[in-house]
Amino acid sequence: MKKTVTTLADGRELIYYDSADDTVRDAVDSRPLDAVSTSSEVRRDPLLGDSVAIASHRQGRTYHPPADECPLCPSREGRLSEIPDADYDVAVFENRFPSLAGDSGRCEVVCFTSDHDVSFGGLTEDQAALVLEAWTDRTADLAELPQVTQVFCFENRGAEIGVTLGHPHGQIYGYPFVTPRTEQMLRSAETHRAGTGRNLFDDVVARELADGDRIVLEGEHWVAFVPHAAHWPYEVHLHPRRRVPDLRELDAGARTEFPQIYLELLRRFDRIFGPGEPPTPYISAWHQAPFRVPGREEFGLHLELFTIRRTTGKLKFLAGSESGMGVFINDVPPEAAAQRLREVASE
Ligand SMILES: [Zn+2]
Repeated sequence: MKKTVTTLADGRELIYYDSADDTVRDAVDSRPLDAVSTSSEVRRDPLLGDSVAIASHRQGRTYHPPADECPLCPSREGRLSEIPDADYDVAVFENRFPSLAGDSGRCEVVCFTSDHDVSFGGLTEDQAALVLEAWTDRTADLAELPQVTQVFCFENRGAEIGVTLGHPHGQIYGYPFVTPRTEQMLRSAETHRAGTGRNLFDDVVARELADGDRIVLEGEHWVAFVPHAAHWPYEVHLHPRRRVPDLRELDAGARTEFPQIYLELLRRFDRIFGPGEPPTPYISAWHQAPFRVPGREEFGLHLELFTIRRTTGKLKFLAGSESGMGVFINDVPPEAAAQRLREVASE
């Protein structure tokens, strides 16, 4: 893998990750860009004690551009994009419209491939392996920034999720605090350790393996299951069998096997609702331990993949109970969801 770090015309960082070690990326961004002015501000809610990023500059961000004006495609004569080079394997750059910036953290965009018309599930295993390397390397780099406490790599896929660019891409948020869900998981792990002497993540995976009826697929190094109390209609959690706090500590076996397992999960997601349905909208979210906090070694890195579509043509909305009170109502029994995700396995 070859990593090339450069800067865009407005000073934002751009990093190429290429499979071939002898790749040269020396194209210069010649766009007349103004310096990025962000007004991102993190405010604390006094009742809930959580944080809200107020980012008014995002209202002006690129919204569903036509395919020939895609800012994530490589640049070509007369059509300059965020990627100055004429081609790339994986490219990461600082978001021009960040939700978090400066002392409030950092937002990056990850272009999974230069091919505008493919989705992550359509990548080759080698391409998916390179994305995993990029996620891992970004986690390592961002861990060095004093203003970043937690790194969140994720992909929103589908217009139903609010994706405004069709090009296959994900994002990385470097938060300046521990996010509420991670805080909850750390607290649960601590309570579980105090009560049982065991690790919570280990016990959750062991329970799923013992129950068996919510297992979606198993590899030598990874286990995927629908959790016992799934929040979403179709929700899969993917854990490495050897627990690690974050992506940096995955071993070679888990890294090698990941592309095969993850691509299979994404392909199954697109088959849940049968042929003729548009691609399944999903959110894919890496949960990693925050940096420099007590108890981080108790955290179990895992990926949560879920869709907001509950049945053909119908979305699950976060309505009164979910949005108002934080109580999810799930219409699809987790055991039925797991069975469906086994039925649609690749031949
Ligand atoms: Zn594109």
